[in-house]
This record gives sequence, structure tokens and C-alpha cells, in this order.
Amino acid sequence: MVWEERWHPLRREWVVISSHRDRRPWQGETVNDARTPPAPYVPDCYLCPGNVRVSGERNPRYTGVFAFDNDHPCVGPTAPEPPPVATGPYHNRRANGLSRVVCYSPRHDLSLAELPHNEAVNLLSALQEQFRELAARPEVRHVLMFENKGDVVGVSNPHPHCQIYATNFVFRTIEVEAEASAAYVTETGRVLFQDIIAAEEQHQRRVISSSEHAVAFVPYFARYPYETFVAPRATHPNIASLSSVELDHLARSLSVTLIRMDNLWQMPFPYVMALHQAPISGHAHPGFHFHIEIHTPLRKPGLLKYLAGPEIGGGNFLNDTAPEDKAEELKSRPSVHYRVDESQ
Ligand SMILES: [Zn+2]
Ligand SMILES: [Zn+2]
Repeated sequence: MVWEERWHPLRREWVVISSHRDRRPWQGETVNDARTPPAPYVPDCYLCPGNVRVSGERNPRYTGVFAFDNDHPCVGPTAPEPPPVATGPYHNRRANGLSRVVCYSPRHDLSLAELPHNEAVNLLSALQEQFRELAARPEVRHVLMFENKGDVVGVSNPHPHCQIYATNFVFRTIEVEAEASAAYVTETGRVLFQDIIAAEEQHQRRVISSSEHAVAFVPYFARYPYETFVAPRATHPNIASLSSVELDHLARSLSVTLIRMDNLWQMPFPYVMALHQAPISGHAHPGFHFHIEIHTPLRKPGLLKYLAGPEIGGGNFLNDTAPEDKAEELKSRPSVHYRVDESQ
């Protein structure tokens, strides 16, 4: 049993860990397990190769990674100039930037966890390209790359894909991480994320996988059950500067993590995955260490961790599980996907 408050150094906030609460009786709503396997091609999927999207455009018969500008952009070059607001503290501006969709593969049924290694590497290298292209746009201040997976996080299409928001502002979480990382360099002369990796490796229990160039762990300060960070060992401000060998190790580490998540309950594990990359601006962001965060909303099969009073009302997280226990659960799962096992 763990009952304590833990400091989240990247967010600079407290997380309340109270694992004894995980056993409390639950009579609330449960969610579907979504165990029915999808088909490799779905005629009415707007992301499958050769199909027509809502914009009327037809997808090419793509064979690898396929990226296109989002048909429903949240930020985009065609955003209208808003009317000025003249009163008080309120102000506004154009929702400028670029929104993209990146399909991992033509296969409708191949999640990132099941993507063959070479395709996972190709995907990460396509994201490097995307970053370079989008970061070069004059209006772009930050590139957020993320995947929503599963009904419970509101995914609009199950075809494996991620999204990119290249925005004219820096997302708040990134801004806080950049401030925390820079302050840490000033105070200690060291990189915060390097010290986090060192602390995790010293403790060992929360490390899910570890190789020469990449590491995955359930952080000490995890806010969600099974929340996992995957990162290169070397400090890079964003994905673009990783070498091919680092990318290879990162892909492996990411795959093993996602496979173990799926293997936990033999079902596609829902998550929100985000690549945390330094803001793009004139000045440097000392100590910012590119990493991938996987936020996992399920506590148990069919049972969500609901965001409620503490999280939505107060802004701090209450985690009803001990990160050490959740890491042990993940580590104990095989690193071969259960669907591969089934087909053999
Ligand atoms: Zn599809
Ligand atoms: Zn982060």
C-alpha cells in the first residue's frame, strides 16, 4: 500500500498516490472492452487506402506511412480573422497553424503495438520529416504529435493514426516542462530528465525496458495507472535530431511497452500518447529532453479512471494505484503481442 504525495518535477505539481483506494467498491459505469478484432480493410473507413474522405478527396493507394492535412483542422491556414474584442481582459487571434493526420500503415487492423519493427521505425522517421517541415513554418511555435487510441478516449476512427497540431502557441504542459527543465539547469547544472532516468534506473522496479539508447518506465510520479514514459537516453529537444540507431531503439522500446499494455488484459489498450518536444522559438530551451508520454485511462478492464473533483476541479491528480505495482504488472507480460501468439 502506498499513501503519499509525490512531486512531479516536470509539471511542478503534487500527485496524490493512494493505492488503498483502488479496492473501493465500484458501482458506476463501466466501458466496453472492444475485443472484436477489426478487418485489415474497411470500405467505409476514410483513412483506408483508395477511400474517399469527407473533403471529397480520395486517399492514394498508399503502402507505408501516409500523412495529409486534416479535413477538420483545429488550427489551419484558412482559419478566419476573428473580429477584435474591445473589452477588458479578453483578447483573441487567428487559429493559425497546421493540423495533420498521419496513418501508420494501410492496414486498418494493425495498431502501433502490432506494427512490424521496420514499419515502426519508418513511422518515427516520417515524424522526424514532419517535424522538420512544420517547424520551418514561420507561424509555428510548437509541434504537438499525439495519438488517441480507443473509444474511451474518444477516437473518431479506429484506423491506426496519429495527429499533428503545429500551432502558433506552445501547449501549456510543454511550456511548464520547458520552464521546469530550464530552471533545473540553472539550479543544478544538470538535465532534469537525465536525473529522472537515473533515479528510475537506480530504483529499477518501475523500469519496463532498457537498452543502450532508449528507456521506458512508469514514472515515480505517474498520474494514471500504467502511465508510461518512453525516451531516448540522450537529450534531444525534439524527435528530429535522433540518429537512426537511436530511432531504432526508441521504436523497439515503444513497441515493447505497447505490446505489454495490450497483453495485460489481452485487449487493445486505450491510451493518449503524446510526443513532448521543446517549443520552437528564437531562444534555446536548455535541458528540454524529448520524450513520449503514454497516458492510460483504464484502471481495470472495462473500468475507467475518471477525472473528477481533484483533477478537473482542482487541477492535481489523484492516482489510486502504486506506480511500482503497475510497472510490475506490465513487466511480467510477454514482449510478443498476444495476437501474434494466437495466429501461430
Ligand atoms: Zn481504415
Ligand atoms: Zn512530458
